[in-house]
Amino acid sequence: MTANALLQSDCLRGCPACDCAEAKPLPHYAPAPWLIGTCENCGLTYLRNPPAYEALQEEFAWEKTYVAKKTASRGSTAFSPYARKLRQKLRMYRDKTNSFRHWFNDGHVLDIGCGGGRRVTPPMTPYGIELSNELHRIADQNMQAAGGYCLHGAGAQTIWKFPEQQFDGILMFSYLEHETDVMSVLRGAFRALKDSGRLFIRVPNFGSLNRRMIGAKWCGFRHPDHVNYFTLATLRDTVARAGFTAQLVNTVTLPVDDNISVLLRKEGI
Ligand SMILES: [Zn+2]
Repeated sequence: MTANALLQSDCLRGCPACDCAEAKPLPHYAPAPWLIGTCENCGLTYLRNPPAYEALQEEFAWEKTYVAKKTASRGSTAFSPYARKLRQKLRMYRDKTNSFRHWFNDGHVLDIGCGGGRRVTPPMTPYGIELSNELHRIADQNMQAAGGYCLHGAGAQTIWKFPEQQFDGILMFSYLEHETDVMSVLRGAFRALKDSGRLFIRVPNFGSLNRRMIGAKWCGFRHPDHVNYFTLATLRDTVARAGFTAQLVNTVTLPVDDNISVLLRKEGI
């Protein structure tokens, strides 16, 4: 199957955050047939012609494209060692990836795009959503053994199958950059989260120094399965449209960090 055959249609999608149809093209960032643009209204950068879910499920499954990306793009992290050294030298660097364990304690925690389902472990009760057929099977087995379960499907639709106010914590860890229907999954998460709950998001940082320095070879580009490219500003704006307030986690390192980590709470609560 060719990439062209996988395109949803000849029409370009509108902005996943604000629905604006106009976007400034960034042709130097993506090889044909993929088209990346920056929304004229809200400033979010996104893939304008993503493949259908069915294609992502099998043809572009994460575990396959990750290997392809590692093989194809030597040099993509050319600036990263310098950024890492800078962080270490300034004693800024601290991996906060696992902070959610302290925030969510022994609660019911949903991992959207959970892969094999090993991220959420006891005393948390793990729940998951996974699109890849094979990974879902493994995740459900792992999660059932720990008192939870994993649903099979796309995050934006499947999130609505959980009861309202079910979760103390929700994780979107290296997930939201893959999701074409951003607003549906965020609004679904708002509904599924307790009022006291928190949502942790980690996505590639399109505003990073590394991306600005090395452009198209930046490690955050993965065509076509990364469909949204957030900066802190566009991420804050997008989650606010679903009712969330964002607190930045990697505060000091953000400019030289290839990822953004934020903890969200329901606005006004
Ligand atoms: Zn927009």
